[in-house]
Amino acid sequence: MQMTHIKFPGPGPRYRLTNHARFIAFILVTLLMITAVVTVLGKRREEDDPKNTSIAVTPFVPPPTPEYTMPPIDVPEGKTLEKVLVVIDPGHGGSDSGTVSPYDDDFYEKEVTLDIALKVRDLLNESGIDAVMTRYSDIRLAETQREDLKLRAQLANELNATLFVSIHVNAYDLKLSGATKVNGMEIHYLDKQSIYDSFDSREFAEIMGKAIEAQNGINNRGIIKSDFSVLRNTEMPAVLVETAYITNREDNDRLKSDEFRAKTAMGIADGVKKALDALQAFEYEGDLYVFREADSQ
Ligand code: ZN
Repeated sequence: MQMTHIKFPGPGPRYRLTNHARFIAFILVTLLMITAVVTVLGKRREEDDPKNTSIAVTPFVPPPTPEYTMPPIDVPEGKTLEKVLVVIDPGHGGSDSGTVSPYDDDFYEKEVTLDIALKVRDLLNESGIDAVMTRYSDIRLAETQREDLKLRAQLANELNATLFVSIHVNAYDLKLSGATKVNGMEIHYLDKQSIYDSFDSREFAEIMGKAIEAQNGINNRGIIKSDFSVLRNTEMPAVLVETAYITNREDNDRLKSDEFRAKTAMGIADGVKKALDALQAFEYEGDLYVFREADSQ
């Protein structure tokens, strides 16, 4: 804002003090101009005050998706080149607690799954494998479980993920006799059209089960074909790890221990690495890539 320079009248005949009407008009105009300038400057100072600007609602603009140029690698006929990305899905969250411990108050599946998933993410990142999670805190992705599960699979599909690992905690129906004796780990998978010609969810499940068992020594109940939402709706090889039974006393205590969670996470990260080996993932200038069937998209 430029200050208007106000010229005061000289002793010329037009502004003689005797010319009262003209003089009063001049004073009024000058006062009006000063008032206007003061008002504008005052308003500016108000706008500069951070307390005032914070009131304004800035619409959220999501950061742009990072773009990367595909490296100059010869892609075999019928294949596409994809950057490796693993999606880790900690089961449940928020108002959906998942399974509940019959032995300890306030001990829920959702807390174990998030803790293990964060550890897996860190281990993968340390090994140079890009990994993202479907949730990073105690939240659910949608109001209904059906929609929540769909969104988890949708996220992996939109990210064009290479592999998907869902982490859960099992529970046996306590109304059934011998329920508390049931213990151990299960790896669930679903047969579906694979986006890779020599690797599918079943192979991923077998690799994963062995890798976790080797790390934490848990009773491996084997691989089980299950029509779970996240397995059915994901396009890439996917497994759902039921880490242990919260309804079994020993498993419950394992699930509470940091050591078991850390070793389980190491097993899952190891399973992912072995699966990437089976997929013949390769490094190029610090990033990992795989070839995918071109007609799978
Ligand atoms: Zn669960």
